[in-house]
Amino acid sequence: MSVLKPFNVPCPLCGEAVAFSVAQSVNAGRRPDLRAEIIAGSFQRETCPHCASLFRLDPRLTYIDDTRGHWILAAPLRDQPEWAAMEAQAQEAFALGYGPAAPAFAQAIGATLTPRLVFGWAALAEKLIAAEAGLDDITLELLKLSIIRSGNADLLSDDTELRLIAADDGSITLGQIKAAGEKLIERITLPRAAYQSIADARTAWADLRAALSAGPFVDLNRLLVLPSAAAA
Ligand SMILES: [Zn+2]
Repeated sequence: MSVLKPFNVPCPLCGEAVAFSVAQSVNAGRRPDLRAEIIAGSFQRETCPHCASLFRLDPRLTYIDDTRGHWILAAPLRDQPEWAAMEAQAQEAFALGYGPAAPAFAQAIGATLTPRLVFGWAALAEKLIAAEAGLDDITLELLKLSIIRSGNADLLSDDTELRLIAADDGSITLGQIKAAGEKLIERITLPRAAYQSIADARTAWADLRAALSAGPFVDLNRLLVLPSAAAA
């Protein structure tokens, strides 16, 4: 089920307390409206009644959609350097809910779910958009890697990310997003064939594919962001 709890959250601009319904878990099978809000980028966004500024809470929730096979632990983007430790937490939480010690019905559901760990709203939306378009998320990260390797290293920096923002039968659109405030800087549209050629070249990409999918944090940052000393 979806769990949204009332909390008073300080407005990041004026500091006044704002009553907020904080999402701790989202069951998209029962709340397709919340899934739509995550994809649209409006989920957990509120206007401060004191200073009228629009702000968004960082994600810290479990997202489940058993019709689409999603089990995703979403954490704030700033926690990304802790991905190795968070990945262990995600694996533990998934095992607790759906592993060998869970009831048989839960294990049966778990067998249909793919556990993932993401940091930030754009990364969560990306997983949902990819699945909707029939894109494998590991191949998608390899596609990003191929774009960066072919002379576009400037697309990634300490404060920007490359995330899938749209896809259809013919094309894939990635957004270069400024992490702070999730501002879209640039749109990169590629033919879907670029994705397909990576999907088909299993041998050429085998090592990187294995490295990217060694745990639930299936993200290019797995190869780029060194785990922090505290997490290691
Ligand atoms: Zn305010």
